[in-house]
Amino acid sequence: MSFMSSNERIVKSICWWCKPKCFVNVHVTEDGRLVKVEEPPVKGCPRWRMAKEWFYHPMRLRHPLKRVGERGEDKWKEISWSKALDEVAAKIKEIKEEYGPESIAVSHGTCRSYEEFRYRFLNLLGSPNQIGQSHICHGNSATIALAVLGWFPWWYPGDTLKFSKCIMLVGRNPPPSHQTIWAAIREAKKNGAKLIVIDPRRSESASAADLWLQIRPSTDAAVLLSIINVIIEEELYDKEFITKWCYGFDKLAERVKEYTPEKISEIAWVSSEKIVEAARMFATNKPACVLEGMGVAHQHNAHAAIHARYILTAITGNIDVRGGDELLGPNLKLITEHEMEMPNVLLKEQRLKQIGSDRFKLESWPGYEIIQSAVERVWGKRGDLQAYTSLAQAPLLFRAIITGKPYPVKALITLSSNPMITMPNVKLVYKALKNLELYVVVDYFKTPSSLLADYVFPAASWLERATLYNFRTNSPDIKAAPAALPSVKQDEYDRRTDYEFWRELAVRLGQEEYWPWKTIEEVYDYRLKPMGFSSFKEFLEKTGGLYVAPREYKKYEKIGFGTPTGKVELYSTVMEKLGYDPLPSYEESPESLYSNPELAKEYPYILITGGRFLPYFHSEHRQIKRLRKIYPWPRVEVNPDTAKKIGIAEGDWIWIETLQGRIMQKCRLFDGIHSQVIHAQHGWWYPELPGEEPYLHGVWISNVNVLTNDDPDKCDKVLGSWPLRGFLCKIYKVRDDEWNPEKHPLPPPEEFRKLFNLD
Ligand code: SF4
Repeated sequence: MSFMSSNERIVKSICWWCKPKCFVNVHVTEDGRLVKVEEPPVKGCPRWRMAKEWFYHPMRLRHPLKRVGERGEDKWKEISWSKALDEVAAKIKEIKEEYGPESIAVSHGTCRSYEEFRYRFLNLLGSPNQIGQSHICHGNSATIALAVLGWFPWWYPGDTLKFSKCIMLVGRNPPPSHQTIWAAIREAKKNGAKLIVIDPRRSESASAADLWLQIRPSTDAAVLLSIINVIIEEELYDKEFITKWCYGFDKLAERVKEYTPEKISEIAWVSSEKIVEAARMFATNKPACVLEGMGVAHQHNAHAAIHARYILTAITGNIDVRGGDELLGPNLKLITEHEMEMPNVLLKEQRLKQIGSDRFKLESWPGYEIIQSAVERVWGKRGDLQAYTSLAQAPLLFRAIITGKPYPVKALITLSSNPMITMPNVKLVYKALKNLELYVVVDYFKTPSSLLADYVFPAASWLERATLYNFRTNSPDIKAAPAALPSVKQDEYDRRTDYEFWRELAVRLGQEEYWPWKTIEEVYDYRLKPMGFSSFKEFLEKTGGLYVAPREYKKYEKIGFGTPTGKVELYSTVMEKLGYDPLPSYEESPESLYSNPELAKEYPYILITGGRFLPYFHSEHRQIKRLRKIYPWPRVEVNPDTAKKIGIAEGDWIWIETLQGRIMQKCRLFDGIHSQVIHAQHGWWYPELPGEEPYLHGVWISNVNVLTNDDPDKCDKVLGSWPLRGFLCKIYKVRDDEWNPEKHPLPPPEEFRKLFNLD
């Protein structure tokens, strides 16, 4: 039972700390102070409990900051929003005039804010250069789905999953990453569904699976193609659906002939019997669906694995059925997030300048243009999905900042992102950020990235801003909530929503006519009008913040698929047109035990990373004492046999080293991982350590992206995404006479630099 004092009110809000976007009740005093957040209906998340500590944290940014020392000295002065924006706008104008609008770039995080306004701002400015996590998040999957299915399957709320009779998780572990999906999987299992997990680790999901395929990292494409081979050989496919609705089945059948379970068993270190069993289980329990995760998105051959995964659901007749890969389409009345992006104002000549799009063509403007014309044929203008499909390639953009090639990139705005932690090859990112003429960060807290900025703006959080979310246009459903707390409180803080940030900057740069709405609520009024709501307020009153559109399945029977052929493209004409192999195939990672045996002599283990773990969300929340008590230090999983061989024990700090550098994490002995595989955690930095160089809040100590390699030759050749798994590494114990994060005091700067090989 909860007690509420008489001067409190409860606001139904939407938590944005991770993907489920749960409705939560926020208790607020009459004078706008946070009392508490109530537990969301879905269990298993520890984050909501720390809302108050997070909101009132002493390190939370309160006012805009302007750098007064050298970059990295952590010396700042407070400045007003209007003065800071005036100065930033003036600098952008100067850079634009001298180098062109393409010299101004934006980097974003993972689904953390009003993404549509970043695009709107950049499109109107004339820059095609937005980089971000989409390349290593669901952006990869969405892009391939748009190319081969004409829409992106709906997996968000779990309301379809509970009807599945077979669920295959590939490189995905929902218990720590997406609790609503895990709840639905559990419900489906109670109803008799089978669970197949393909993962190198015995994750929570793998432990609960009916069948676990413990594969060698980055061999997912080979295993999926082998499963398809079995389904075709044994004629377990849906003949009617394939005949009427699939393009290129014969060519696919020819391609997968070489992927026999016996052959793939050797490549992927999993038994042929398990591959056959997975194929039979998946094809004979319908409806069935596949949920691929970042374990797939983070590979050098991600496009092939993702394409194979869509082929699997297509040839078994699981497209746009309840419990399968539902293709909901957009909300045809709401003005979607995508329309707000205004992709059409970016001129062709500017699109052509997008960095990386001449080489990685699918998830950038060339791919977008082919995909969109097909998608729009079925869904109309509302079916446009720029946000997933038109990105510059981050590793090449950082190189352009350093080298000025193919042209100078001089300014970067980072919003809800922390590239010094979340981008690969951090030493290169560091060099790039220091080379900028203008670096602006908008965030909740000071981060290692913000320490290199010229201006840092304090962002309003989900507690302080109104939300109208239609799942990046992916669904006709809508979730909405008002701001629970004020973002500006006299003498305490002056934080603004992302919308205010972009609008205020845009107005200063002459875009005023395209930003007629002064507040985000006015934007929502405008977007909801075609749905028959007079205002955002009325929408909230009438729907309680949740609009669920009626479901209709097998819509393709009336409208076809939004692909160039109007069918599911097993053989992708989009990829063919872009000059890529239209069918998926397996390619060995360029840095593996087999492709690089010489290197493997010195670096004998396979490093994987990026697996989610509670209570943190990627690089966030390390400031929160309550969470650090639960999970104080990073942990690297090592098989006990391996640990014994090397002479390390549970809890030891160990060095993990690749060709890129070395970091330290604490050893966790785990027999659910192969003896040649090492699993390091991502997202680690230490906000409690000093901000000034060389410490930068501990960015060099345990941050796995010090180890990752962003060499464009090692990136996915179609998508441009960079691999975060499958590198070769070695591990060894941190000596007793060496420093580790549990030891005090911190080494002096020169010693620290030496320890972490900082030149
Ligand atoms: S952190 Fe994620 S799971 Fe937890 S309440 Fe927020 S959205 Fe839901």
